[in-house]
Amino acid sequence: MKRFPLFLKTDPKKWSNWQWQEQNRLRNGSDIKSFFPRLSDNEVKTFNEYASKYKLGITPYLLSLIKLNKNGLPLTDDPVWNQFKYFSPEETSGPSDYDSRHENWEIPGEMPTPMIQHKYPGRAIIRLVNSCLGYCNYCYLTTRIIDKKYSSRKQNNGKIWSDTLSYLRKNPDITDVLISGGDPLLLSNSRLEQVFRDLKSIKSIRSIRLNTRALTHNPYRFDAGLVKIFKKYNLTVLEIHMSHPVELTGVVKEKLSLFDKAGYRPIIVWRAPLLKGINDDEKTLTALFNALYENRIIPYYLFHYAPYTLGRSTIGVSVKAGARIMQKIRRKVPGIAFPRYTLFHVDGKHDIPLEPSGTPGFVYKNSNNNNPVIKFKNWKQRWVTYQDIKDAPCRRKK
Ligand code: SF4
Repeated sequence: MKRFPLFLKTDPKKWSNWQWQEQNRLRNGSDIKSFFPRLSDNEVKTFNEYASKYKLGITPYLLSLIKLNKNGLPLTDDPVWNQFKYFSPEETSGPSDYDSRHENWEIPGEMPTPMIQHKYPGRAIIRLVNSCLGYCNYCYLTTRIIDKKYSSRKQNNGKIWSDTLSYLRKNPDITDVLISGGDPLLLSNSRLEQVFRDLKSIKSIRSIRLNTRALTHNPYRFDAGLVKIFKKYNLTVLEIHMSHPVELTGVVKEKLSLFDKAGYRPIIVWRAPLLKGINDDEKTLTALFNALYENRIIPYYLFHYAPYTLGRSTIGVSVKAGARIMQKIRRKVPGIAFPRYTLFHVDGKHDIPLEPSGTPGFVYKNSNNNNPVIKFKNWKQRWVTYQDIKDAPCRRKK
């Protein structure tokens, strides 16, 4: 693996310590300038402006995956860099981009406590923390996770956790819980063990899933102790998130092998969004689906870029364009390696049909101001409207 010159002398023990990786994350323009001395003042200023409003966090490990040009600057089309670098104000100003007012997923009526969301019958999401091991600029939970104005609000997690457990006890129809965040693996092994113990004490809960992006931000978080907890409490599904094949590194494979060494492996599934200039082409997605499959990870969801999410107008792709790409890949990968292409809507997720002109239950239209919208029948058989974005060339691949 190619490392940045500044990291060449790092003690390998430190490098592979997940806490060291967290402590040495890049958080603002000055940090970034120390790694890329030739970045222009203007660019550093934009980083600082972004970091004053939104969380920025790039681990040394992630930096080491970025390809550089001859001046030591990240390539403008680097698939890793473009997921974590800033958005300038112009890049976040399109229709249905983040505005901190519109919700794309969490709605108050579904949140019996600030930590649990009960959208569908039978299952619930628990958001243990509002922080992550690193920050993706396209996070669909912008308000909860990366907008500093909202995500840094203090809350009494002890009280919320006990209210959350009470809610689960009073609602035995919930048999499946998804532990999510932010990234729950930001918590220590001892705290996570307590969470599993509490959940397992509720007899109606039969399966537990856990969602993380640690394998991209900081794979060193996976240690033997964590795998032991997953085994002890029989984690049913591990949901992982990688947007490009370059993220499936040797370190990640080594970490996944800890499950085999422990004689236990949960079902591992993959989910990630479709991102313009990063993975929105047949070749990259085919390589990603095949690589996941070869490593016994089931490609489960390819998400359409969520409405009202930061940067949607810059690295989002139109629904039609996404369907066209997926249609081309359909017969090129084994069926089990072909994920659902799905959009987020406050009323529930919906699978996108791959037919180029839609279906009777999924209709492409244009709004009065000529922006694309889709009308579809949701899981409750109600017609709902979805704001899409126009097809446009990638502005970042210059
Ligand atoms: S790891 Fe997940 S929750 Fe955290 S910033 Fe990235 S997309 Fe959002």
